[in-house]
Amino acid sequence: MSELPPSGVVACSFCGKHQSQVKRLIAGPAGNYICNECVEVCRSLVGDAPADGLAEAPGLSVEEAPSADSSEPVNVHSPRQIFDWLDNYIIGQEHAKRIVSVAVYNHFKRVTNPGDLEDDTEIQKSNILLVGPTGTGKTLFAQSLAKLLNIPFTIADATTLTESGYVGEDVESMLFRLVQVANNDVERAEIGIVYVDEIDKISRKSENPSITRDVSGEGVQQALLKMLEGTKVNVPVGGGRKHPQQQFITIDTSNILFICGGAFHGVESIIEKRMHQAPIGFHSEETETKEERNKTLFKHLQSEDLLKFGIIPELIGRLPVIAPLNPLDQADMVRILKEPKNALTRQFQKLMKMDNITLTFEDGALEKIAKIAIKRKVGARALRSIVESLMLDTMFTAPGGDIKSVTVSEEMVNTYIRAELPKPLQVELLGDIAL
Ligand code: ADP
Repeated sequence: MSELPPSGVVACSFCGKHQSQVKRLIAGPAGNYICNECVEVCRSLVGDAPADGLAEAPGLSVEEAPSADSSEPVNVHSPRQIFDWLDNYIIGQEHAKRIVSVAVYNHFKRVTNPGDLEDDTEIQKSNILLVGPTGTGKTLFAQSLAKLLNIPFTIADATTLTESGYVGEDVESMLFRLVQVANNDVERAEIGIVYVDEIDKISRKSENPSITRDVSGEGVQQALLKMLEGTKVNVPVGGGRKHPQQQFITIDTSNILFICGGAFHGVESIIEKRMHQAPIGFHSEETETKEERNKTLFKHLQSEDLLKFGIIPELIGRLPVIAPLNPLDQADMVRILKEPKNALTRQFQKLMKMDNITLTFEDGALEKIAKIAIKRKVGARALRSIVESLMLDTMFTAPGGDIKSVTVSEEMVNTYIRAELPKPLQVELLGDIAL
């Protein structure tokens, strides 16, 4: 996949140093190369400006903005500290939090302690796979970690990636983004975190109707494989598609932590089958909902279930840490509305406070909002749009008026349910008062 030049013949076209004598060689057109040392010399000659290709790169999203000065040391936190930090932002998912805290801690121990000469035991990389239904906090895990650790972080969407030669983004492009958020500091990027979302969508069985795309997804899995394991990848400067005149930077992925996430929709039945349990829906206890049952099922996820799902064994091997995330129940949803540092209710309270209006939410209202969100089946993602709709009138009329306080009551949510939701849902959520 990577376009490494043939070994033994590669040298810097400026100073003549061989590949093994320098840290990095950047490939240019017509078999020319420049080494990292000559780049530094050129940079000082032209006045410390970043290399052109890097500066011209497309803009960054807020999430991907450099998290800290690249000259600062890497923060190493204990697993407990990482857990407590995640706790500020993520509700529930205690098991996943523990797994991720330990994996991230070990990763940074490995990165910040280069090999002991007397002990040649090599600590291998522990890339993480987050598995759980949509909207349960997978991306939030990666985002919260990046906030804590002052290292470059970027998010890539596996569904937009393709094998080289197909239409779409090359797998290597995610590394270029990592270099960008590291302010073009390749060494810093080489200890960053890449979150690869929707990894389940490139499973072998997934079918893609487009003939111009990698139809099986397996090619992308293969392309990801080496990168996850740790290899030197030649990344096109500018991040776009490779072409003959392209310039490349070489990035070593050995110390980059890859966190992959996916909903793996349908894996529950694979787990269940393996465990020889009664299928969902045939359970006699009325009190046990499908969500409650799934909640315990995800805990039992094993790599063989992922294999059945369509992830190739080699890729599973490169993701040794599997952290299952649970579906969120109503109580979790209420907590998500109220408790995290940037909880939705706090955000709206802050917005209203700017107009000198005190905003309060009745507990009954929050519970109803949580109930509606559960019905939408997109996890906590549904909460924002419900609260936005509920608040629309207030946010339109209150500013500039005499109103000093607003309460979102249960009755307001009931009115929203009657106005916005289909009849069967109204009956389910409101019972007798639906009409
Ligand atoms: P996904 O699992 O699909 O990656 P996200 O992490 O993007 O889901 O979650 C979508 C939104 O829902 C987040 O921005 C966050 O506000 C909220 N959310 C989801 N799960 C949780 C959780 N466990 N705790 C707090 N907020 C959550």
